[in-house]
Amino acid sequence: MKLIAFDGDDTLWQPLSGVNLSDRTPTDEEGWPHFAYSVNQSNPLVAERDDGARFALRPEALDVLKELHRRGLLVGVVSYNHAGNVERILEAFGIGDLVDYVVARWHTNKDEMLQELLEAGRRDGHSLDAKDVLLVDDDPSQIYGKQCERMGVGFCRFGWDITDLRDVLGLLSE
Ligand SMILES: [Mg+2]
Repeated sequence: MKLIAFDGDDTLWQPLSGVNLSDRTPTDEEGWPHFAYSVNQSNPLVAERDDGARFALRPEALDVLKELHRRGLLVGVVSYNHAGNVERILEAFGIGDLVDYVVARWHTNKDEMLQELLEAGRRDGHSLDAKDVLLVDDDPSQIYGKQCERMGVGFCRFGWDITDLRDVLGLLSE
């Protein structure tokens, strides 16, 4: 593996208020692309959206991202979300510099997003094939695993195959 891609909601961070990162309501079909996020002053693992919704970074995420970089791997976030929101919450959590690529689109075709991720890496001079990529995702509708399989990308279902992001490091050394 050369590039580890993480999903956002329910993988890198946990929604605490019943809405995902870009959703105004639990069933928002369009989302809102212009939310702002700021870190909670008493808990740096919690980010608050400008409408009051809260999101908790998984406590082990920072160490895992640092370790992936220490091992010379690239890190991506691939998310069914609006990209600006993803970039802004990563900054609020203080991990923006530890993520090399963000590909977020408002649809469920993560295979297309992973293709974009591969192309972004290649534009930066990295030699990358589908088999060099691992997607870690809670995949609630169980569609992303199949998309990965079709394109030859590795897949790990968070909350099912593993329940702690540190377990990703173990998968890489096998
Ligand atoms: Mg998710």
